[in-house]
Amino acid sequence: MGRVIFIGAGPGAADLITVRGARLLALADVVLFDALTDPALRDYAPRAKWVNVGKRGFCDSTGQTTINALLTRYAFEEATVVRLKGGDPSVFGRLEEELEALARAGVPCEVVPGVTAAIAAAAATKRPLTRRGTGRSVSLTTAMTREGRLHTARSADTEVFYMAGKQLAVLSRRLLLEGWAPTAPVSVVSRAGWPDQLHSDHSVATLGRATLLHAGRPTVVTIGAGAAALTVDTAQEHMPAGAAIPS
Ligand code: SAH
Repeated sequence: MGRVIFIGAGPGAADLITVRGARLLALADVVLFDALTDPALRDYAPRAKWVNVGKRGFCDSTGQTTINALLTRYAFEEATVVRLKGGDPSVFGRLEEELEALARAGVPCEVVPGVTAAIAAAAATKRPLTRRGTGRSVSLTTAMTREGRLHTARSADTEVFYMAGKQLAVLSRRLLLEGWAPTAPVSVVSRAGWPDQLHSDHSVATLGRATLLHAGRPTVVTIGAGAAALTVDTAQEHMPAGAAIPS
C-alpha cells in the first residue's frame, strides 16, 4: 500500500508551485494531473508515469468516480502517487470526494497547498484582496451550481468568482440584483500567473464587455474593494525616497 499526496500546482507557470510541492512531486511514481497544470512541471518528476485526468469546465460525476477509482488503484500498486491539481487543491478542486474515497480504502494521504487563482490574480494586478478600512472580508465563490446554473450571493467586501468566464453578462445582472452599485469596480484576469495572462477593468454594469477578451481562458472575476486600482494617494503614503528612517 502506497500513499497519495495532493499537491497544489499553483495557477500557471511551473515555478509557482511551492518548494514542498516540488520536492514531493520529485518522489512520485505516478502523477494524476489536471488540464490546468503546466506541462513544464513534468521536469520535476521525469521518471514518473503521468496520467491526464483533466477535464475543462464542470466535472461530471462519472468522471469524478473514475478519478477516485484510479487514485485508489494506483495507491495499491505504487509507493507514491501524486494528485496534482491546478491552484490550491482545497479550492474548487473536488478534494473532499477524492479524500473520502481514499479514506474509505484506507489509503494514507497528505495535502500540500498551492497558490489559488484569486491570489495569483491579485498579485498579477497588484490589487490586494483586503484593504485597510474598506476590504475586511474576501469570499471565493464558484459561479456555477451543480446543475450548471449561475449563482451569486453578496457575502463579502471583495468577492472573487471562479468559473464565471462564459457568463459575464449574466453575472453582471445578478450582481446588480444582489445590491452591488453599477459603478463598483470589477477586475477580470484570465490565465493569471501565465506569461500570456490578460487583465481588464470594468464596473459591475459593464462587466459583460469582458466576455470577448477572455473567451475560452480560465478566468477569475474580482468585485468590490479588492478590485480597485491603487490610487496615487495610496502610493504617497509610503516613505518618500531619501526620507530619514525613524530610529
Ligand atoms: N483549484 C483551482 C481552481 C479550480 S476551478 C485554484 O485554486 O485556482 C477552475 C477555475 O479556476 C477556472 O474556471 C477559473 O475560474 C479559475 N482559474 C484556474 N486557473 C486560473 C488562472 N490561471 N487564471 C484565472 N483563473 C483561473
